[in-house]
This record gives sequence, C-alpha cells and structure tokens, in this order.
Amino acid sequence: MSKIDHLGIAVRSISEALKFFQDTLGLSMRGEEIVPDQRVRVALLPIGDSRIELLEATDEHSPIARFIAKRGEGLHHVCIAVEDIRATLDRLQAAGVRLVDEVPRCGAGGHKIAFLHPSSTHGVLIELVEERASPSDEDDSSMNGEAS
Ligand code: ZN
Repeated sequence: MSKIDHLGIAVRSISEALKFFQDTLGLSMRGEEIVPDQRVRVALLPIGDSRIELLEATDEHSPIARFIAKRGEGLHHVCIAVEDIRATLDRLQAAGVRLVDEVPRCGAGGHKIAFLHPSSTHGVLIELVEERASPSDEDDSSMNGEAS
C-alpha cells in the first residue's frame, strides 16, 4: 500500500459540484471520463500526489445513483494504490475480508481496480488500484521493473 490514490465523492451533477471544488476551493479539473462498467462520469481533480474524483451517475441504475438516493451526496469511497492487486486481493480474501470484486476489473484510466465490501472495512468502501506508469496520455518511457 503506497498512498491514497484518490477519494471518490458522489455528486448529483459534476458541473454543479465544480462550482465549489474548482471555483471556490481552487482545485483544477485535469480530465473527465466515462467509466461504462460503473455507469459513472468521473471528473479528476489532482491534489498533491492524490486526487479527488467527482462521480456522477450516467443512468438511474448506476451504483452512484443508488448511493445518492439512499444517503445523499458525499464521500463514496477511498482508493488505495497497491503494487500488485492480485496478490493483495488473495491476501485479504485469505484473511476473511469480504470482496466486492474477487477479480480485478477495469476502472478509470484503464487501471486494474477492485472494491472491498464495507462490511469488512468498518463501513468505508475501499477501492484498490494497481499502480502502473500512466498509459497513453503520458509518454513516459521509464520502466517500473517488476520484481519477482
Ligand atoms: Zn475510485
């Protein structure tokens, strides 16, 4: 576990939320993307080595739509970067942690992600993301050698 990768905040409308997070708080939005798998539109606002992700449902079946219907806007999940998501999931599962995703799936930016169930994490939805050199958008040829 190397850092908090991002905090996911469920909002009704990204453009409304940006009036606070961007215009008032002073963060700047670096990108926006739709993650079809999660039926969510994501706005990325870097802050230090981490970022805030504003999450807006793209339809009423989105987990974000259900979250807001139940609890209103607010902190949705905390994302922790790990070196090897498979190994981490195996270790947590062996320790009895309930996993939402037993197999990593594709999240924002094409990264491998998986969620841990809040019933095992003291009520916080935790997302794990496997750290990788940024794909496509940054042409950084420095290689992170994979220690075996
Ligand atoms: Zn996330």
